[in-house]
Amino acid sequence: MKNALWLKETIFAVLTIKMNLAFLLLGSNEGNRMHWLKYAIQLIHEKIGLVVNCSSVYETAAWGLEDQNSFYNLVLAIETEQNAFQLLQSIQFIEQECGRQRNLKWGARTLDIDILYFNDEIIETENLKVPHPFINKRKFTLVPLVEIAPSMVHPVFLISNEQLLLDCNDSLPVLKIISHLKTRF
Ligand code: ADP
Ligand code: MG
Repeated sequence: MKNALWLKETIFAVLTIKMNLAFLLLGSNEGNRMHWLKYAIQLIHEKIGLVVNCSSVYETAAWGLEDQNSFYNLVLAIETEQNAFQLLQSIQFIEQECGRQRNLKWGARTLDIDILYFNDEIIETENLKVPHPFINKRKFTLVPLVEIAPSMVHPVFLISNEQLLLDCNDSLPVLKIISHLKTRF
């Protein structure tokens, strides 16, 4: 009888765990760029949650400081039990695991992970801004995002990702280089 109650409570707890849907932008422009993207996806599986969708990999000239190596970028949709602040800690841990040095703003990096969306939450703190403030400014973010979530609506601008891309006047070319990256290891 006691066991049955325990089982019922456990099942109830599992069913009521809140799953969050987040979109992450991964970028690398230092070292073996494809390796860092793949390794980061593996660590995301281990430390954060389930990768439910992955865009193609795109190559873009470095934005901000244009004399650097080009970037490889992709966007992931993930499901996680972590809240947005826990997720920020996890992505910073993964950036460190991938050898990220924080020195120059917009400088070369083995791995950068940005939270683009976290459910439809709007967060405005010093350390975390969601939706990411530059989503609508950069084609290297919008092109992979539109590939996996075209009709998702930006919770502040109240227009779709597809429309954000149409309205974006970033002129840096975004070139698709790999269509299907392995996301299970
Ligand atoms: P950037 O991504 O702008 O090139 P960094 O990766 O060095 O620069 O991030 C700088 C800081 O931005 C981080 O320490 C983090 O606290 C903050 N930040 C604010 N909003 C976000 C977000 N949505 N995703 C990731 N980092 C964010
Ligand atoms: Mg970042």
